[in-house]
Amino acid sequence: MPNKLLSLARPEIVAMSAYRSARSEKVQGNIWLDANENPWDHSPYNRYPEPQPYLLAFYLSQLYDVKSNQLLITRGSDEGIDLLVRLFCAAGKDQIMICPPTYGMYRVAATIQGASVVEVPLLKEQNFSLNLPKILESWEPNVKLVFLCSPNNPTGNLLSTSDILSLCKKMDGKSIVVVDEAYIEFSSNDSLAKYLKDYSNLVVLRTLSKAYGLAGIRCGVTIANENIIELLKKIIAPYPIPKPIIKIALEFLNSDVFKNQIKIIQQERSRLFNFLSELSFVKKIWESESNFLIFEASDSRIVLEACLKKGIVLRDRSSEYNLSNCIRVTIGSPTENTLLMEALRDV
Ligand SMILES: *Cc1c(COP(=O)(O)O)cnc(C)c1O
Repeated sequence: MPNKLLSLARPEIVAMSAYRSARSEKVQGNIWLDANENPWDHSPYNRYPEPQPYLLAFYLSQLYDVKSNQLLITRGSDEGIDLLVRLFCAAGKDQIMICPPTYGMYRVAATIQGASVVEVPLLKEQNFSLNLPKILESWEPNVKLVFLCSPNNPTGNLLSTSDILSLCKKMDGKSIVVVDEAYIEFSSNDSLAKYLKDYSNLVVLRTLSKAYGLAGIRCGVTIANENIIELLKKIIAPYPIPKPIIKIALEFLNSDVFKNQIKIIQQERSRLFNFLSELSFVKKIWESESNFLIFEASDSRIVLEACLKKGIVLRDRSSEYNLSNCIRVTIGSPTENTLLMEALRDV
């Protein structure tokens, strides 16, 4: 099993030994003369942080119900996306597959790495579900990564678990299937991380940026087979998670305000959905399992401008594949949503 995974990664990365920073291993001691740091602790930050902060990794492994060696803490899950592309795709040779309309960073990361992109659109008429037969048909041996986003940004829907698992099975030894679960906490589904033991080519991305309200600290988690995590550790920047960030993450992870906030977001999502459905200029609105809604307006520009006049900023998605005249709106606080409704009533 590990060999199949290793043969998918770039051979030069598999062959290289990781840069060993001074603190890569747990070393016992109390006089630290190994990392050229300033010896005076006039601030709490004169020492380098742990390359992967042990305590934070422990808490995150509990939160996501995986083993500590199956996760990598990164600077946002955006860094996880970037590292995966760099690990598996040789420039000018390998490809990723995406299912538009979807999150933009998969393409950005691929372009930076010199990997090209195979597109298999989601089925708009079937609530943006995966086109599994077309994915299998379009697959080529140099497609190393298939990026799926569930719930999908910007369409808000969950992808079918059985579709994803059947894809993992079919892609065994051929491609890595990455499931980006940035919004899973707002949905009615559990994380797919529990299937890690059955599918070694499954990778799950989680983040503290959305449901946990910590977008400002840039903290994401890549969850994968331990062999993949080991390889990712070779290419991540040294000491990537700053000490203040570790402290803040630990502080807020122990709080449970988020659970209630998620409930409010879900209620507000229904309230806004019902309101939008009644508006004459809303041509179509899709059910959402995330903290945003997407709708198609008769003329998206008029709606965006009217909201902006009231200081309300929405996300224009009209230039995305299959989303002409579509606007994405994040579910705000109840007060913010009411103000949005007033602005929309006046359009
Ligand atoms: C917001 C978002 C991310 C980025 O998360 P960070 O952890 O803040 O980098 C990843 N994937 C999707 C689909 C997102 O919408």
